[in-house]
Amino acid sequence: MSDPEPANATATESVHLQLNGTKEEDKEGKAENTTRTTIQVLTFVDPSSSELTWMAIGTSKRKFRAFLSFSKAIETSTSISNDEIQTRALSIPDGPTHTAQPIASDDNKGTDEWLSYDDSLELRRKFRDLWKVRRLLTTDTSWIKEHKPTPPSSTAAPTPAKRGSFDDKLLFQVERFEEILQDEREATPSQSLLAWLKENYGEKHTLNLQADRYYGGEFSAEEQLKTLQHFLDWFRSLFPYYYDRCVHCGASMKDDRAKEGTTNDTQDKDDDGDDSGTYLGQMCPSVDELKIGKASRVEVYQCHKCQKVYGFPRFNAAWSIVQTKRGRCGEYSILLYRMLRALGHANTARYVVDWADHVWVELQRQQQSADHSDKDDQAKYGWIHLDPCEAAVDNPLLYQSWGKKATYLIALYAPTEASKDVSSVIEDVTNRYTSDSWDQIGERRQAHGETNSGIQQAIDECTVLLRTKLAYY
Ligand SMILES: [Zn+2]
Repeated sequence: MSDPEPANATATESVHLQLNGTKEEDKEGKAENTTRTTIQVLTFVDPSSSELTWMAIGTSKRKFRAFLSFSKAIETSTSISNDEIQTRALSIPDGPTHTAQPIASDDNKGTDEWLSYDDSLELRRKFRDLWKVRRLLTTDTSWIKEHKPTPPSSTAAPTPAKRGSFDDKLLFQVERFEEILQDEREATPSQSLLAWLKENYGEKHTLNLQADRYYGGEFSAEEQLKTLQHFLDWFRSLFPYYYDRCVHCGASMKDDRAKEGTTNDTQDKDDDGDDSGTYLGQMCPSVDELKIGKASRVEVYQCHKCQKVYGFPRFNAAWSIVQTKRGRCGEYSILLYRMLRALGHANTARYVVDWADHVWVELQRQQQSADHSDKDDQAKYGWIHLDPCEAAVDNPLLYQSWGKKATYLIALYAPTEASKDVSSVIEDVTNRYTSDSWDQIGERRQAHGETNSGIQQAIDECTVLLRTKLAYY
């Protein structure tokens, strides 16, 4: 990374650029939101039509040019030179109503209309508009996220949450969880996961996993764990963790880490963005990826070997994941959760989210009464940890052994029938995945300005919201 060009006439201050935006104190110090984020924005305007603008946030010119060729909008992409790409650094307040200042530019000749937008809401709207027509590449999708207002129909809705806070993230997870259930409701008979399992995992193995038999008293606790281990070993062999294997030539950066960071494109030497690696950024999914696969974004890569550019749509629809067999913990945990529900475990499976970028599933040791009156009896009614990417069964301290410190781990639960009898559809399960005490977990949370009691309050509020949603199922 290098410093930007010397400040020109429009620059008001010199700023050290960083890839994904740099948090810094607002020098004015007056506003309520005192942090600003600096981002580098690359712009390319099609010479044949000024209407056609592409942008990239937080990436290099080389990567942007690769993206331009991938988007197929530019037929003569190879002829685009770095000189045709404008670089701007913007200092944007985190609050929605402040002024977005252009603070550095490598070209003061152009009169980009978007620079005249004088608040960050407008700028974000511009990013979103370009995203929707697949002309925006970004390393950080928070720039295109709309802050959804609380649903007006729900009287029990949580109070508006501060962006990035626990409440905000929990609300996001509840919405995501609801989408998983929504996808289940929309599945056609030909997309039956149970039928698919019988065909691919075998009738006998599938039957052993079905709730009636699994809990029918035929298996000891030890045999149940073996049944699950067999299933997850099979699952992982069929659905291996996807890194960035090229869809054209099969090369993977994972197999060839030495290549990471190398580029023979010398004209990018003084580029400000991160120019290392195959990962270009994220773009909006195509219509099919969005409608059929329910993808929210597509990761874009450029192969280090064959130089071709390809996308990795992050599907949320179980059937798309079954078909592509390309996913990470997000996709595979959705699929495993949905498979367990298809096997009759709607009342005995949960979906667990770790704020530190991981998800997995839990299955109940034994079926219990709907009121959860014995829920503290872990040995009897506790939950078995199931990680599809690791093929890990009942090994909740696995992540701690990796050095992770569990801070926010939430289980989301959607039993059948109206959930009015179930007390905990959302549960703070952090202490199950660490040997630390609640006090120690609380200390970690305090470092983020959160408290155990505040988190429980957010969970209680979101529980009401999720229960309202589940009542419709
Ligand atoms: Zn390749």
